[in-house]
Amino acid sequence: MNRIESLPGNRPPLRPTAFIALPLGAIKPRGWMQRQLRIQGGGITGHLDEIWSDVGQESGWLGGDGESWERGPYYCDGLIPLAHLLNDPFLLSKAQKWMDWTLGSIQQNGQFGPKKNRDWWPRMVMLKALTMHYEATGNSRVPDFMLAYFRYQLKALLKKPLEEWGAARGAENILTVHWLYNLTGNSSLLGLSELIYNQTINWAELQGHYTLKEHLPFKEFNMFTHVVNNAMGIKTPGVFYPQSGNKWHRNAPKQGIENLMKHHGQPNGIWSGDEHLHSTSPTCGTELCAVVEYMFSLEELLRILGDPFLADILELVAYNALPATFSPDMWAHQYDQQINQVLVSVAKRNWVNNGDWANIYGLEPNYGCCTANLHQGWPKLVKNLIMATPDGGLAAVAYGPCSASGRVQNKVPITLTEETDYPFDDTVHFHISLSQSVHFPLVFRIPSWAMEPRITINRKEKLSPEPGSFFRLERLWRDGDKVTVEFPMGIRISTGHRGLISIYRGPLLFGLKIGEDWKKIKGVEPHADWEVYPTTPWNYGLMLDYHNLQDSFEIETSTVNPIPFHPDLPPVIIKVKGRRIPEWGLEDNSAGAISGGSFKSSEDIRELSLIPYGSTNLRIAAFPRVL
Ligand SMILES: [Zn+2]
Repeated sequence: MNRIESLPGNRPPLRPTAFIALPLGAIKPRGWMQRQLRIQGGGITGHLDEIWSDVGQESGWLGGDGESWERGPYYCDGLIPLAHLLNDPFLLSKAQKWMDWTLGSIQQNGQFGPKKNRDWWPRMVMLKALTMHYEATGNSRVPDFMLAYFRYQLKALLKKPLEEWGAARGAENILTVHWLYNLTGNSSLLGLSELIYNQTINWAELQGHYTLKEHLPFKEFNMFTHVVNNAMGIKTPGVFYPQSGNKWHRNAPKQGIENLMKHHGQPNGIWSGDEHLHSTSPTCGTELCAVVEYMFSLEELLRILGDPFLADILELVAYNALPATFSPDMWAHQYDQQINQVLVSVAKRNWVNNGDWANIYGLEPNYGCCTANLHQGWPKLVKNLIMATPDGGLAAVAYGPCSASGRVQNKVPITLTEETDYPFDDTVHFHISLSQSVHFPLVFRIPSWAMEPRITINRKEKLSPEPGSFFRLERLWRDGDKVTVEFPMGIRISTGHRGLISIYRGPLLFGLKIGEDWKKIKGVEPHADWEVYPTTPWNYGLMLDYHNLQDSFEIETSTVNPIPFHPDLPPVIIKVKGRRIPEWGLEDNSAGAISGGSFKSSEDIRELSLIPYGSTNLRIAAFPRVL
């Protein structure tokens, strides 16, 4: 068996997508990204089955009589891409046993999975894992297995329609049905995807027209206001758009994102929800499952709709919200992260309905969904950094060190190597390796925040692309060609909740570096549970000269360390002046409510260090101003 070299684009009558995903295995991580994946593989993902019985040998998804619902499939949805991206035999052998059991579980009628659980929902997740397994191995059992299951599902859904989580998350199912349709052309699959869409919650209406407001503020448990459902639901109309051709389906995700951010948005690019949608206050929580699911939704929407706006958000969430909610070694994670997170402890906080353990760093804080589901975040980002264009070229849709191998114009082998410390650095070098010269398009996403971006070809030709666009270079490319893309990163300020300000440089959000004292409260290392106490003050306001903003900041950069996101080793430090605001203290075990000011303070002026939000475990990232 060999990995699949390329995936087909949409087969008519499905409308074409803007980009076509490269199969798992085509893109490999390099540089800091590879180190980050190795941290994950050598830690929590590589060993979770040894320490957490829900994905251990007892799992119903390995034929045991233990957990038989979503946790095994969630784990596979991250373990499989990680194992293949790193090409790590230890991880690959772990991944293989889940795939072997799952493929062997198919019944006469086409149903698969643990017999004691008949829910549609966990199967939707395992199908995603199976598509990646097929892409990376070419295992020919997978398409036949999926065809048999989808035949079963088409009949069975009429008697046992999607409900609860399955009805909220039908888009996951549609993605794999379309994937198989493009592979096989079996037209009954489009009947199935339509049926699934019709049985799925109407997210276009809830989010795009924001009828969500009828269910807010949260009173009783429902599927509509659940933070993870919203992160998954956002892609639903976009995923179905190639089949429906309905313009509203194409436009609803963007409108939905704008509505969710307006009412619940946080400076790290995602909305709050501690377990249900909460406000724009920087002490609301955002669940890790919502972070990784929103990333996946954005990756799929970007592939289908091709709007560069989606990639800007993807990088914001991936390079800030994702690393921030892990300990630097990735063994411990939070259930809920806060933008202004000044104390991590077991205590009551102003959540909608999460528990007292939700913002500690641990193995299974609050509830184990994130423990099972966290694994997909980094690997799927890497898998989607580069995509194919429908006319035989390649597109760099998000940036990070990697290399992509494939064929351009369906024939000529290419390796496109991306050398960069992005998002910590503003320059990305692309090296093109070809067996012969060939004419094809290379497409580069230009982030909307880029200040006077530049593209240089072979150190000679210089171009000035538009920020917030995809820039297309179609020409005869030769082996050894080089393209350098630069996105000068000035400091940007955004004003959010009650006039509080957040500081950005490129795709990175910055937070106040606060001294950390980690106290072990449960479990054994390396997978223990931790509280984190501040050892330095946090109640600072920033002193900014709005007439000469860039001069308010000094930037220090260094190389990316072996652990890319660590509070003691930040690759970028922004120095800015501030004063303490003595009346700003703790409230409900979080930073107290405060407005943007300006505040008068007679405290001493201090030079503050702001570091990447993703490197912090305690921080202020929505600041008041002081005079
Ligand atoms: Zn979760």
